[in-house]
Amino acid sequence: MENFRNFEKKDNKDVIECYKKQRTYQTVDYVLKMRNKYCVFDNTNSFWELFDMLKDFVDLSDPDISLPNHQHLFQTAEGLRKDGFPEWMQLTGLIHDLGKILYKKGCDKDGTSMKEQWGIVGDTYAVGCKIPESIVYPEFNSLNPDMEKSTYCTRLGIYQKGIGLDNVLFSFGHDEYLYQLLKFNNVKLPKVAMHMIRYHSCYLWHQEGEYLEFENEDDKKYKEKVQIFNKYDLYTKENKIYDYDEMKKYYGPIVNKYFKDVIYW
Ligand code: FE
Ligand code: FE
Repeated sequence: MENFRNFEKKDNKDVIECYKKQRTYQTVDYVLKMRNKYCVFDNTNSFWELFDMLKDFVDLSDPDISLPNHQHLFQTAEGLRKDGFPEWMQLTGLIHDLGKILYKKGCDKDGTSMKEQWGIVGDTYAVGCKIPESIVYPEFNSLNPDMEKSTYCTRLGIYQKGIGLDNVLFSFGHDEYLYQLLKFNNVKLPKVAMHMIRYHSCYLWHQEGEYLEFENEDDKKYKEKVQIFNKYDLYTKENKIYDYDEMKKYYGPIVNKYFKDVIYW
């Protein structure tokens, strides 16, 4: 099987730069500011208008693919569909990276633009506690100013055991933004789908076995499902281009079951 998440490639200067900045600037303070600034939903568009905004977006943190992001979403959804997963999960595949539209209201300074993506993409980690060594590019951990603060640099940090991942602050990006957007728009996806969306970039949790001390019953219950979902996020990356109209024809009615005509973003 082809090797994905290969961070050792020679030409991944952009990937390294992106992670270096993410680790340097994503602190508790930054995360709180970004949530306040960006999780305000006062723009309106239709689902497919939002979806189309991803046509121009190529994820700089992804070493595996350099296709526009909406093709990656078709690939993920189609993989799930082919293997017989239910509609809500196909839809989750279709939208899981939709939060990257954040770049439309972002700026370089916040790392939320096309050019500076460290506040949108990349593997996420919990802020307010020690950053695990099992993270990608652990050599950048020491660049994070929170790691010099005695309350933030311990294993539990500012959290209590069993507090639940939903009560832990994670580095800000497309996962969190989409989760908040769906909540704001009252989209009724199953709770496990919301977990797939909010934590799909947290490889530390679903792959590396970190943050077990924060898990509550729901997190434990959903983890395996998030892992299954993740396989489709990763292993459906191919250079096949899906026909947009064909995709819209199949997914349109599913989208309409969950989303209203106007989405606040
Ligand atoms: Fe993603
Ligand atoms: Fe993805």
